[in-house]
Amino acid sequence: MSAADTLDVSAPQADPVGRAPAEVEHFDVLIVGAGISGVGGAYHLTKQCPGKRFVVLESQASFGGTWITHRFPGIRSDSDLYTFGYRFKPWSGKPIATAAEILKYMGEVIEENDLARHIRYRHRISAARWSSADRRWTIEATRTDSGEALRFTARFLWMCQGYYRHSEGYTPQWPGMARFRGPIVHPQTWPEDLELSGKRVVVIGSGATAATLVPAIAGKCAHVTMLQRSPTFFITGRNANELADMLRELALPEEWVHEIVRRKILKDQATFTRRAVEEPEKVKDELLAGVRKYLGEDFDIDKHFTPRYRPWRQRIAFIPDGDLFQGIRDGKASVVTDEIESFTETGIRLKSGDALDADVVVTATGFNLNVLGDIAFSIDGAPLAFADSVAWRGTLFTGVPNMAWVFGYFRASWTLRADLIADFVCRLLEHMEARGATVVTPRLRAQDKDMTLLPWVDPENFNPGYLLRGVDRLPKQGDRMPWRHTQDYWSEKDELPVADLEDGTLVYD
Ligand SMILES: Cc1cc2nc3c(=O)[nH]c(=O)nc-3n(C[C@H](O)[C@H](O)[C@H](O)COP(=O)(O)OP(=O)(O)OC[C@H]3O[C@@H](n4cnc5c(N)ncnc54)[C@H](O)[C@@H]3O)c2cc1C
Repeated sequence: MSAADTLDVSAPQADPVGRAPAEVEHFDVLIVGAGISGVGGAYHLTKQCPGKRFVVLESQASFGGTWITHRFPGIRSDSDLYTFGYRFKPWSGKPIATAAEILKYMGEVIEENDLARHIRYRHRISAARWSSADRRWTIEATRTDSGEALRFTARFLWMCQGYYRHSEGYTPQWPGMARFRGPIVHPQTWPEDLELSGKRVVVIGSGATAATLVPAIAGKCAHVTMLQRSPTFFITGRNANELADMLRELALPEEWVHEIVRRKILKDQATFTRRAVEEPEKVKDELLAGVRKYLGEDFDIDKHFTPRYRPWRQRIAFIPDGDLFQGIRDGKASVVTDEIESFTETGIRLKSGDALDADVVVTATGFNLNVLGDIAFSIDGAPLAFADSVAWRGTLFTGVPNMAWVFGYFRASWTLRADLIADFVCRLLEHMEARGATVVTPRLRAQDKDMTLLPWVDPENFNPGYLLRGVDRLPKQGDRMPWRHTQDYWSEKDELPVADLEDGTLVYD
């Protein structure tokens, strides 16, 4: 591809800060973000739509998304890499992987498929404007190193920006925080030089991040306390996959091992999910037995590790070798279930009247939901009211032309959906080409107009804090297909590949 191929002849206009980008590059597809979804999208485009010119714009200095943003001690996946890994690239390490291992794997995908030439790092997108007259998006970006303003146009936007703001995590405000003498850090912006040796650390929260961080620093600091308002479910087990080990003994090709182990894990997960709904008490007992195995009968599991919600309503983090519980059992870590009344100069005062002394406080309190990558979207001059749109199978949106968003699974690995959506986008692009269309926009049909609109994700079914806090900024789903966002890999894997592109819900132009 020559530079001339990508040069748009339309006259560039001044951007909002008054500088006119020197030239406008045009692409068939523009992918936002080089995390696991964006790199996967780039791979699938090269394989399934080799004729399409595309670019990936990424605001960070390298690929990886979540796995480069998070640098706190112990950062690792909480799902297995046979399913968090791509369908097309075998995973050969331990099932639970560190961020460094995931980055290495993604780096191999980029190198083996010559994807680097498509990715532009340090390109932060600030605005995306759709013009029906021009049938294209105009994307405003800024180079984060030089401050240079750049403009791109693209027929199709493939949003792989994830779901949370990468620059800053979510920290609730508690009274007295300003008077605490030590550092208060969020795991998402972990200071490289944070010294923990000899320090008393309090980690607020008990989600996957806290459960990873606590064992990683236990033993390196004087003591670490996990302070939670309410308990979380965890699954314990060995960080190994017996089936994978056995298949490798048979010297099977890694592609086979990957596929067979994936299928087995997915089957087991489907069974687990079904059981969690049908017999929640039994599943709960099994999960708690896993914790009790490490902490013993005398530990107050009821208070500290028995959640109020039913299993699977929130993602269940896998604790390899029970390391979190080993740390507690060995006295290097402890867990406190209580509520924060206020910070003091030397720690945290709790609503029970107890106090926790701390030199460092870590707020493992979650994310800021970031619906469309902090990009100002407009359609023919009107700001996009994303929350007013209805999702087409949780990936396209009514009234929003030529745009797909990759929002992965919570209960299964994110990447399973990233692969499925990638197949779908490629099929849609080919379909448009075949029918001579350049624009596709989902629209409610007459029979859909009075359907009940539901939240993006059913809060009864899945309710992590960042989604509950931001649900009013998310698109809606409908009560029937193709307007449902099921979050169900096991039905989507069969339905999405054959979803009808001519049922009247997708309007082509
Ligand atoms: C600590 C942690 C552990 C997790 N573990 C798991 C797990 O084990 N299993 C699982 O399934 N899920 C896990 N998740 C969820 C995880 O976020 C997803 O699985 C997955 O990594 C998301 O990939 P993504 O590419 O869609 O988005 P992200 O990883 O969020 O990447 C999005 C990229 O887009 C870029 N971007 C955003 N906005 C812009 C913009 N305006 N301009 C340019 N670039 C932009 C960002 O810089 C980023 O690099 C975890 C999340 C966290 C935070």
